[in-house]
Amino acid sequence: MTSYALRVGIFSGTDFRLHWTTPTLAVLALAHGWYFFDFQTGLMNLTLCLGVILCLIIHGIAHKLAARRLGIPTRGIVIHPLWTIEGYGRIGEKPREEFTLALAGILAQALISTCLGGGLALFGESLSPQFDETKPYSMSVYLNQLFWANLFLTALDILPAYPTDGGRIFRAALAMTQTRLRATELSISLSAVFSLVMLIASYFLKTPIMGFAAIALFLSGQEELNRERFFESLKRPPEDDPDPPPPFNPSPIDRVTAGLTLTAEPDFTGFIWNEQARLWVEWKNGQVVSATALIKD
Ligand SMILES: [Zn+2]
Repeated sequence: MTSYALRVGIFSGTDFRLHWTTPTLAVLALAHGWYFFDFQTGLMNLTLCLGVILCLIIHGIAHKLAARRLGIPTRGIVIHPLWTIEGYGRIGEKPREEFTLALAGILAQALISTCLGGGLALFGESLSPQFDETKPYSMSVYLNQLFWANLFLTALDILPAYPTDGGRIFRAALAMTQTRLRATELSISLSAVFSLVMLIASYFLKTPIMGFAAIALFLSGQEELNRERFFESLKRPPEDDPDPPPPFNPSPIDRVTAGLTLTAEPDFTGFIWNEQARLWVEWKNGQVVSATALIKD
């Protein structure tokens, strides 16, 4: 899945992990409030970060449920500071599946914001942002801040800045006419432009959190690009390749996959994770063409 991630638990067979940048941001938020105001403000910042992490776990669960409906297993979910990255056990070429999976995330995030905003309005609480550190803290102030944090997360998730869900929808649209790898490269180029704009804006607006988000977005995009390139490298070259690489696995594919339960849709093209043998199995038009065992994944 990914390195430098802290395991927080398992939900229905799926590993939930915190990417290293997530606890880092929580500690920075604590330190920022403590240094510039007092310890209590730092603690409030930390509590807000924990609330945001909880909302992102709900966001990840929505992706998992959508994947289950499509018959796709979810191996693990990594919680980044402002978005989540899912490791699905089936990576197909069909962009329609990716569109549905990404949409589930955006809808979940929007629903969390609506519930928080609706709850505040129902109890007659103010919906205008309450981020003034000098004012007394209360539960309604906390929920107000969590509501605004979720609105920000929803807006960011819609942005076509891969690997946000909006970025995934953008890649799915590009993948209708391009290869998956090329679509990812183009999406990540656009995402890098967003990162740069956010970084410059954070300097002028004096919001270090936006600067941190810009760097996290850029790093996250590069991590995803490496992952796509890795899967591209696993693909078995076509039979008519004039310059095929030397075979590194001398075992014929039917011997490697003998005894395993292998099923895919009749026309499936892509990779399916086989938990039984811990293999990534490559399929082309419903046929197994290669399998790769991973020491570290
Ligand atoms: Zn998402």
